[in-house]
Amino acid sequence: MSKADVVVIGGGIVGAAVARELSRYQLDIVLLEAETDIAMGTSKANSAILHAGFDAKPTCWKARLNVLGNALYRQLQDELKLHIGWTGSLVVAKDPVDMAVLEELLVRGQQNGVNGLALLGRDEVLAREPNLASDITGALWAPTAGIICPFGATFAFAENAIRNGATLLRETPALDIVVENGRVAGVRTPQGVINTKFVVNAAGVRADDIARLAGDESFTIQARKGEYILFDRSVRNLVNSVIFPAPSKISKGILIAPTVHGNLFIGPDAQNIDDKTDIAATGNGMDRVITGARRLVPNLPLQAAITQFSGLRATAEDGDFILRESEAARGLVHAAGIQSPGLTAAPAIAQVVSALLKEAGLKLSEKRDFNPANPLKPAFQELSWEQRSSLIASNPLYGRVICRCETVTEAEIVAAIHSPCGARTVDGVKRRVRAGSGRCQGGFCGPRVTAILARELNIPMTEVRKDSIDSRLFFDKLPGNCEVPAHE
Ligand SMILES: Cc1cc2nc3c(=O)[nH]c(=O)nc-3n(C[C@H](O)[C@H](O)[C@H](O)COP(=O)(O)OP(=O)(O)OC[C@H]3O[C@@H](n4cnc5c(N)ncnc54)[C@H](O)[C@@H]3O)c2cc1C
Repeated sequence: MSKADVVVIGGGIVGAAVARELSRYQLDIVLLEAETDIAMGTSKANSAILHAGFDAKPTCWKARLNVLGNALYRQLQDELKLHIGWTGSLVVAKDPVDMAVLEELLVRGQQNGVNGLALLGRDEVLAREPNLASDITGALWAPTAGIICPFGATFAFAENAIRNGATLLRETPALDIVVENGRVAGVRTPQGVINTKFVVNAAGVRADDIARLAGDESFTIQARKGEYILFDRSVRNLVNSVIFPAPSKISKGILIAPTVHGNLFIGPDAQNIDDKTDIAATGNGMDRVITGARRLVPNLPLQAAITQFSGLRATAEDGDFILRESEAARGLVHAAGIQSPGLTAAPAIAQVVSALLKEAGLKLSEKRDFNPANPLKPAFQELSWEQRSSLIASNPLYGRVICRCETVTEAEIVAAIHSPCGARTVDGVKRRVRAGSGRCQGGFCGPRVTAILARELNIPMTEVRKDSIDSRLFFDKLPGNCEVPAHE
């Protein structure tokens, strides 16, 4: 790839949504991702909530784009086949100070244009959520909040962009931005320079480093880590909606929420960190998360915890999104400082970025054959016995269950590998079809998924990676041509 109309740097939810938005037009679009896969930065580890939009002050990007993004997801849900549950959310109060915060949030939400907000009394809250702490005094109910699969959404945006002609280059970091006479002229990658006049900076916590490559020192990004604990499906019914405490100045607080896949999680805490690669789960983080969540639900079923994870918020100095053309390098548009509610706002951010590119001189001519829809991919686990039998009759690989915890078949894994922006790593398979997401966390299916990847990608097992570039699973003494081990 030696030239493009637009290069989008960063394959998180924002870069993928931008690529998809731009794929409506007659443009050569390249989406660059440094890692082995897209959705490996903040977009893989967050609270997965489609926020209603009452948190941010009305004058900022966050407020406007949260409410618009939430509305856009309602339309995109069918088009892109997104996994969304419109559960609503409750911000609960425990004392008069918290109640005053809820009243402020109610007014702010109404100013932001959030529909259906209501203050509920204690009895009404406990009728909806019987497992909440008995000392709560009331809550702010937001019916438009929802839950989503964040990596599924990132894959869906990217897949649709690719179906509409965009090119995804993985393991291809932007090493430099070529600037000539104050204008962007190209992006240097390990494979050479991609000549382009327009670049979108959607590099998450690295967005300030990307800006610096173009000589733009106008902002810095502070990484703020948040840790989580994920619970087994067996305790999914502990809460029915997303439950927040009254928020603090720096975070929405430690919450408890169901996931679209039927699990439950608690978190995140909020710790500023210097190392932008540090996503380790820590003992102290776990303690903070458990203490915070117990204030909401005292009887936490800790025995049902199956894993921990953490994500990094990309925090800008003034706390708002940075959406503008760079003054140092014309044609470079920043989508930076995209902390929460960036997942919710992503489709709206994509529209703003597209408008900024147009203002910067990019010609946007609509494509007549733009197809906004992705095809439906059946999840074997969710089908009736009749539907399963008919799939097995059409393709016997549906009859081989590789992940026992989540009932994921070999046919689904093979399809995930060969789809546009297909899986190349064991965790890439996990994030697309959930093999390895269950109670055993890949203890059983991990080697089988590895062997299927080796076979389908035609590489030796020793070349298969768990997730990141340096995460090979096997070394030496393995046959080059591995087959999936037969079932016992
Ligand atoms: C703890 C936590 C909880 C959150 N909860 C919510 C929530 O419930 N709801 C919500 O709406 N939002 C939430 N957010 C925010 C949301 O997750 C982010 O706003 C969103 O994921 C940011 O997406 P992004 O595409 O900007 O960044 P990322 O997903 O980080 O993507 C950036 C990508 O750029 C790539 N990259 C970096 N450098 C280069 C380079 N040189 N070349 C090529 N590629 C590069 C990275 O590898 C990465 O894949 C939360 C965030 C955190 C951390």
